Amino acid sequence: MSPRPDLGPKPKLGYIASRLERGADRRLDAAVLSALEADPRAGAYVVGGELVITKKTPQGGDPLFALADARALAEPQERVFLGLAAEAARFGIGIGQPAAETLKGRADLLVTDLRTIAVQGLVEADHLPPIAEAKALLTWHSRHRFCSNCGAPTRPLEGGWRRECPACKVEHFPRTDPVVIMLAVRGDACLLGRSARFASAMWSCLAGFVEPGESIEEAVRREVREEAGIVCGQVDYFASQPWPFPMSLMIGCHAEALTSDIKVDASELEGARWFDREEVALMLLRRHPDGLATPPPVAIAHHIIRAWVEGEARGVA
Ligand SMILES: [Zn+2]
Repeated sequence: MSPRPDLGPKPKLGYIASRLERGADRRLDAAVLSALEADPRAGAYVVGGELVITKKTPQGGDPLFALADARALAEPQERVFLGLAAEAARFGIGIGQPAAETLKGRADLLVTDLRTIAVQGLVEADHLPPIAEAKALLTWHSRHRFCSNCGAPTRPLEGGWRRECPACKVEHFPRTDPVVIMLAVRGDACLLGRSARFASAMWSCLAGFVEPGESIEEAVRREVREEAGIVCGQVDYFASQPWPFPMSLMIGCHAEALTSDIKVDASELEGARWFDREEVALMLLRRHPDGLATPPPVAIAHHIIRAWVEGEARGVA
């Protein structure tokens, strides 16, 4: 094996390690929620589709608004209870993307998409997990206004953690979509792919939705075979990450590749190829001679790739 490159201190993964206590017991009682809302310490994150509203600061933006200020920005479409920060309630308020677009014109606000906020570090890192929670939950509400069983309008309950259909009484619960994201490894090389929607020169892990009736391991093997024609054997879980685009859970894995001849599915990928450790290390460090790069540390792909480069991936050498 080639010498292990020194990548320096480990960066933090984004959207995880929320400091909010979710306070699920408070969701059930409307009077308790109203009291939390009336408390002057209560705060809200305001989301409109892909956009997050923040108060402009010299460093970027402050995304936490007093409730009255949040409501004054635009007509709220939905309000969800995210949890408690030292007994102060945190809410997510959805205003819809058109209203958020309009707010881009205000000089005192910074209104931009969550990806940009996370990658550029425009808000303090502690705000990212509750913003992710708010965005995923509010997106679910915006797409479940009508009952999928009978078509009648549904109504939100329990601080936004359930919707109920008054017509057929079916309950609807917020969804999280599982996505496998994996690094296939063979000897001293790993398989990276490029999607046409990636920034130019970026290469990353392959990924795809887990399908009904499928285990995580089966989804990993199927996706790598479908997208790159590579057969995988052992699959090892690495770590997971909530990914609010719009409401996924990324399940990071390493997989042992049993074959090496790549056959790219052009409908999924622009390209896929094997990379050795040294080349990937330069990509992680953003020092690759041709400018090739991996995703930034906010994304789990960066950590899956780095763990392999540093010899920390279980199951695969
Ligand atoms: Zn119904």
